[in-house]
Amino acid sequence: MGLAGIGVADHLPLLPDRDPVLSMNLSELGDYVTEVQELKDRFPNYVLLGVEADYRPQTVSEVRALLENNPFDYVIGSVHHLGNWGFDDPRQMRAYADRKIDDVWIEYFELVGEAAESGLFTVLGHLDLVKKFGYRPTRTLEAELDRLVERVARAGVLVEVNTAGLHKPVGEAYPSLDILQRLRAAKVTITFGSDAHRPQEVGRDFDHAVALARSAGYDEFATLVAQKNGRRALVRSEPLRAATSGRNLGDSSSGGRARQ
Ligand SMILES: [Zn+2]
Repeated sequence: MGLAGIGVADHLPLLPDRDPVLSMNLSELGDYVTEVQELKDRFPNYVLLGVEADYRPQTVSEVRALLENNPFDYVIGSVHHLGNWGFDDPRQMRAYADRKIDDVWIEYFELVGEAAESGLFTVLGHLDLVKKFGYRPTRTLEAELDRLVERVARAGVLVEVNTAGLHKPVGEAYPSLDILQRLRAAKVTITFGSDAHRPQEVGRDFDHAVALARSAGYDEFATLVAQKNGRRALVRSEPLRAATSGRNLGDSSSGGRARQ
């Protein structure tokens, strides 16, 4: 596919809940790190060791410890829960009926803003995941969105253009064009992710993602360059036009596990 690099980012064990459908077990983390490190050795400067970690206020210190004790090149920070509700889990969809949808979105944006400011993450994952099943707010959440974008920009964290949403009920990439335009105006740097959970999904729909980024005004994107000392990868800017042929795109996919 002409990808310049592939990041593997399986799901960090969910704390305090355990759910083998959603993430590896804590006891599997060592094997995961070893396996990806072996790939890094076989494909130097091509494979990166990443992980996707949940942002939940109640597990920040546990997540921080896990991240500090493992040599991840990068960490995707994601919000999948409002309180104990896994709002993007098809098994928990019924709970939307009991909530005011605007409040769901506002609470979600608030947590993503906290995730940005936590300093735990290299990249924010699927920034508007809350749209996954097509539940839209009743009004444009202008003030809330502006505040979120400002927090993300100030934190200096990357945002991925994630193509998995194209294959969910919402049928569009994360984040939306509107949010991407706001991020661009705030000078937030983007990267690309296919959120692949199967090998054939790696780099999926990147042509679409590049076109989306370009229409939001982006002409650059970030790739990640691993450092030898076990520290987080360096961010390197690349011109987006080089990516339109499908070349030179990094992919910071989630790999491995099934997540519906
Ligand atoms: Zn995710």
